[in-house]
Amino acid sequence: MGFLSGKRALIVGVASKRSIAWGVAAAMHREGAELAFTYQNDKLKERVTGFASEVGSNIALPLDVSSDAELKAVFRDLETEWGEFDNIIHAVGYAPKECLAGTFVESVTREGFQIAHDISAYSFAAMAREALPMLRSGSALLTMSYLGAERSIPNYNVMGPAKASLEACVRFMAADLGPRNIRVNGVSAGPIKTLAASGVGNFRKLLAHAKAGTPLRRNVTIEDVGNVTAFLCSDLASAITGEIVHVDCGYSTVGMSFSVDEDEEVIAQR
Ligand code: NAD
Repeated sequence: MGFLSGKRALIVGVASKRSIAWGVAAAMHREGAELAFTYQNDKLKERVTGFASEVGSNIALPLDVSSDAELKAVFRDLETEWGEFDNIIHAVGYAPKECLAGTFVESVTREGFQIAHDISAYSFAAMAREALPMLRSGSALLTMSYLGAERSIPNYNVMGPAKASLEACVRFMAADLGPRNIRVNGVSAGPIKTLAASGVGNFRKLLAHAKAGTPLRRNVTIEDVGNVTAFLCSDLASAITGEIVHVDCGYSTVGMSFSVDEDEEVIAQR
């Protein structure tokens, strides 16, 4: 029996098998959770429905988080399917492409700023609001953040403030929902090559830099993120709320690191 046996989880943010949300779905399925999925638009419907069936789910519902009507409809439909449930995985982020190239100051626009915050941060709080009547005691809500919330990262630009807002949402939501025994946490993942990440300028450089700079000398995988997310959704994490857990091979913990070549020199000198 897996540690999520008896839990029901809504997974929001699967676009491909490289999606972080797919890594989470696989881990949660392995641990015994029953899953439902959403897809952003008709283009993704067939793909997400197919992925859902691979993990034993026949629930795939439309959800563009910029639509209030769809935000309401998805939980109305889920109520018909499930009545009550336990987890929401929010793995959604977006900023217009032109905001993710060049410098923050030069690329920021009122519209880009609004869209990034609306899709990437507000949507998490809005989902909690709509889902609240259906969430059981012991539920856990999870979102995906990035180091750009805490530090400047080249080309990440307006997504940085949007992720900072998302992380603040985690803390406010945790405070509000804690008395109902509902937990809210975020995972701050290291860089992974996904559709969304490919939109960030110089992403390859970012991946290489992260790999060289982590204590573990590797980048994270969707399996790494999926496993930690599954744990945070489970009763094993029953006293963890309002936290942002870094799943980044330790990148955020170092003040300085030497290159891989220099590692070899150090080892040779021992
Ligand atoms: P992805 O492209 O696989 O997933 C992004 C998802 O967001 C897609 O499923 C897309 O359909 C969805 N989405 C975008 N706009 C939407 C809207 N208006 N309505 C509904 N859904 C919408 O990329 P990913 O990297 O798996 O991204 C998932 C989350 O992880 C994002 O919040 C991202 O910022 C975060 N994250 C990614 C990385 C990384 O390096 N890939 C690192 C840290 C955090």
